Amino acid sequence: MSELFRLTLAEAAAGLAAKKFTSVELTASSLARIKATEPRVGACLAVLEERAMGEAAAADKSGPDPARPLRGLPVTVKDVFCLKGAPTTAGSRILENYRPVFEATVVARLREAGAVVVAKTNCDEFAMGSSTEFSAFKTTRNPRDLSRVPGGSSGGAAASVVSLQAAAALGTDTGGSIRQPAALCGCLGLKPTYGRVSRYGIVAYGSSFDQAGPLARSSADLGLILSAVAGPDGLDSTASDHPLDDYANAVPADLKKLTLGLPEELWSADFDGGVARRLDEARKLLTGAGVRLRPVSLPNLRFSVAVYYILAAAEASTNLARYDGVRYGYRAGGDPELLSLYRNSRTQAMGEEVRRRIMLGTFVLSSGYYDAYFRKAAQVRRLIAEDYRRALEGCDFLLAPVSSIPAWPFGAFAADPLTVYQLDMMTLPLNIVGAPGLALPAGLTPGGLPVGLQLMGRHFDELGLLSAAGAMERVLPSPGDPPALG
Ligand code: GLN
Repeated sequence: MSELFRLTLAEAAAGLAAKKFTSVELTASSLARIKATEPRVGACLAVLEERAMGEAAAADKSGPDPARPLRGLPVTVKDVFCLKGAPTTAGSRILENYRPVFEATVVARLREAGAVVVAKTNCDEFAMGSSTEFSAFKTTRNPRDLSRVPGGSSGGAAASVVSLQAAAALGTDTGGSIRQPAALCGCLGLKPTYGRVSRYGIVAYGSSFDQAGPLARSSADLGLILSAVAGPDGLDSTASDHPLDDYANAVPADLKKLTLGLPEELWSADFDGGVARRLDEARKLLTGAGVRLRPVSLPNLRFSVAVYYILAAAEASTNLARYDGVRYGYRAGGDPELLSLYRNSRTQAMGEEVRRRIMLGTFVLSSGYYDAYFRKAAQVRRLIAEDYRRALEGCDFLLAPVSSIPAWPFGAFAADPLTVYQLDMMTLPLNIVGAPGLALPAGLTPGGLPVGLQLMGRHFDELGLLSAAGAMERVLPSPGDPPALG
């Protein structure tokens, strides 16, 4: 089989336009790569072979069309996106047999732009987690070290991109779930501004945080996907009509004109030695290329883990109330009495982490505790937003690490959920504030594990992020060739 699966999205689009190959060949190459790598990587919950090949054939027949810039290009989507007629489980037993009769707006837009969805990727149950170990269905391995987690919750998305199953993937980021797996596997990931992309048809976790976005191996590819999916949507009132930019044609920024703020609370974290070394080196490379770096402060950042885990759990407890064993999804057998039916269905078909968050969320919303927890967290959220705005004064973007440690071995934190929550500290600020961010690779630790950096921007400045990343990816070390997996 040809090695078309190695191409980036932009390269594949150019090749298709020049008739060097067909979408059928490209899609077959992607599916063959999935077959070869899945036994080791386990990125996918469903591979849509027949349907993808049919769509590829149709794309070949229709020929070039400027309105369909992704025509015939294979992509994967996280299993939280409703794709009509295909299984959509969100990594949960409670949705095991669910087949949506409608489509997420972002998926519909990707397909209208011509993309061919080849697979739905694995994730932590209801996107709650940081390692994809909470999927009810399978283990996804980090393609760069199969003994380690790929990060999460969009671990399958990152693994699919890094193992070259597809050039780009769609993921979601509620507290870091695009940026962190991208960093831990060694690819790029973009979390758009809250409201830049519609949430309609995405299995909800924390509705005031959730946002969909692309993972890919180049910033140009992130832009291609974003330009296809971004924009207002009559089906989601939080999707903003703020003007769109030409994300697909972001011009690399002039690094000599760039000022990046380094939030000192994030840079002074307790880093793994190998990660610290890479981060130091990355800063030197950037200053060597003319970037100005200056320290900034986010004084309320120390509350971000508490704020997020109160508010997101509260929203999750409300969003997940719909899974009651009655309307759709898993229904427990036995006792037909209503309350037992609810209790048994939810207990049997939801994992421990999801139940922990539902209980936490229900508690912080309960009368007597609402003011002490939920209201207080909502107030502190505003303080963090104010810090963020102030930190950006005089800077183009903030620059931060993504994770203080590299991908960890399976089970390393099995008995310690709180430590894993703490590890989210670097990604949470953007979700709390609703601002956009982009993770990009900054090389490997001496042990060969990817290290990521993230740029944090002003609301709706995705174009600026893509431009800055386009210049930075030429200066920072590439994560190197993906390991042999086939
Ligand atoms: N790790 C975070 C959590 O467990 C973020 C998850 C996400 O962004 N979906 O909630």
